[in-house]
Amino acid sequence: MPTATCACGACHIVLDKFLGTAMCHCLTCRKYTSANYSLSAVTTADAFHLVKGSPKPHKQFGDTGVPSTRYFCGECGSTLWIEHSPKPELRIIKAGVVDGDGALDDLKPLFEQYVKRRPQWLPAVEGAAQFDEMRTVEYRDQHLAKALEANGRKV
Ligand SMILES: [Zn+2]
Ligand SMILES: [Zn+2]
Repeated sequence: MPTATCACGACHIVLDKFLGTAMCHCLTCRKYTSANYSLSAVTTADAFHLVKGSPKPHKQFGDTGVPSTRYFCGECGSTLWIEHSPKPELRIIKAGVVDGDGALDDLKPLFEQYVKRRPQWLPAVEGAAQFDEMRTVEYRDQHLAKALEANGRKV
């Protein structure tokens, strides 16, 4: 079963499965992850088990103005997951905290968003759908559902 931990090990999450993965190049993700993009692995609340630690919540607003809550380790500052208010049943794990050397091999993104902000030296991920901006949450989820279905998996 996949696990996710923060850099210092104070927070530990066990995950039953992932529904799919997306990459985002928006400025909000850039700031909150201190990285040039964020890779999010989506799962549902019932497949998500926080087994150790008390991550701190922080309310954030993306470009769309829709609030979401980011949870991070209060000790080391690793961003762990996001809960998006229109879809409270989802847990959006920041994939960098997923454990295992090869863990990200299985988390290839289905799509990239805000590609207009992707650095020019970074190529698109082959086979990933490309979006200039973030669409509505509904649009994104429909696309995710379609892509998962195409891969023989159900949301
Ligand atoms: Zn930590
Ligand atoms: Zn973003």
